[in-house]
Amino acid sequence: MHDVLIIGAGAAGLSAARWCDELGLDTLLLEANDEVGGQLAWIHNRVDNYLGVHAENGQQLRELFTKETAACDFDLWTGVQIESVDLKAKRISLQSGEKLQSIAVVIATGLRRRKLGIPGEAEFAGRGIIESGKRDRDELIGKDVCVIGGGDAAAENALLLADDCPTVTLVHRGRKLHARREFTEQLHTHHCITVFPESNVRRILGNDRVEAVEIERAAAIKPFQMAVQGVVIRIGFEPNTDFVREQLNLDDRGYVIVDSRQETSVENVFAIGDVSNPLAPTIAGAVGAGATAAKVIAARLTR
Ligand SMILES: Cc1cc2nc3c(=O)[nH]c(=O)nc-3n(C[C@H](O)[C@H](O)[C@H](O)COP(=O)(O)OP(=O)(O)OC[C@H]3O[C@@H](n4cnc5c(N)ncnc54)[C@H](O)[C@@H]3O)c2cc1C
Repeated sequence: MHDVLIIGAGAAGLSAARWCDELGLDTLLLEANDEVGGQLAWIHNRVDNYLGVHAENGQQLRELFTKETAACDFDLWTGVQIESVDLKAKRISLQSGEKLQSIAVVIATGLRRRKLGIPGEAEFAGRGIIESGKRDRDELIGKDVCVIGGGDAAAENALLLADDCPTVTLVHRGRKLHARREFTEQLHTHHCITVFPESNVRRILGNDRVEAVEIERAAAIKPFQMAVQGVVIRIGFEPNTDFVREQLNLDDRGYVIVDSRQETSVENVFAIGDVSNPLAPTIAGAVGAGATAAKVIAARLTR
């Protein structure tokens, strides 16, 4: 029996656990991955917008966070797979067979990258489909690349790769890109970059590695194949809420709806960070929401 079970050890979950510890609550933090930090591992640029901290990248910020939380007394279990949750009863069953019980539950499960769900996507992950244009740039030098998506992340990846790749084709569904103007202007003038609007990649093809993509264009009569050796998929994010879908009020995109205490539609169940923040997901927001939930829980349990 714990006072608080926190699910997810990104910025939000780590902050909540740290605050719960400071407030004297018996806390167990559960993380599905082998490492904590969540999306911080995906930030390959400098982080200068978290007040008081300047980090080379998310990994360095993650190290600062874990250095601090290592000095705390809460329990942390990594590599944990949840079998089922009963939020009203505050009971969590793990795939390992363990059953956990608490007074309050905090959901801090963040976001995952949205997938296309097309043939070849899973098969060629890490074999031509790369995680990040910045991190894996060397792998694609001199290769033809297809970037899928129409937002900032897709545009940024296309521009980054265009310095080293003979051709970069940006394929997106909409009529117009929704990336910031500074990116779209550069995209349309860069001699290596071609933009295909109103287009979809239907299949990723190859033998051992990516060799081509099949593209369907509103402007073309039938789908065609284009030879590429690299693919970057940047079509947005979705919240990790499948496991609580039947038990909590979610918005139409699957984000948890919370009140100003970070409390969900079930009493003593809280949601913090990106999983409940579709409008302005930030590290600062996640850390702040963790503090809010912890303080509300502590005030209730010590009443
Ligand atoms: C490329 C990129 C750049 C960014 N740059 C900035 C920036 O400069 N400044 C800024 O403020 N923000 C930035 N952000 C946003 C920022 O990283 C996030 O807002 C913040 O890290 C969210 O933290 P979180 O804890 O809410 O969620 P996450 O970081 O998504 O963490 C959720 C955690 O929950 C775990 N989890 C999920 N499901 C389960 C489950 N069922 N059981 C157990 N564990 C589970 C996940 O493994 C993960 O560790 C950036 C994001 C990206 C992707």
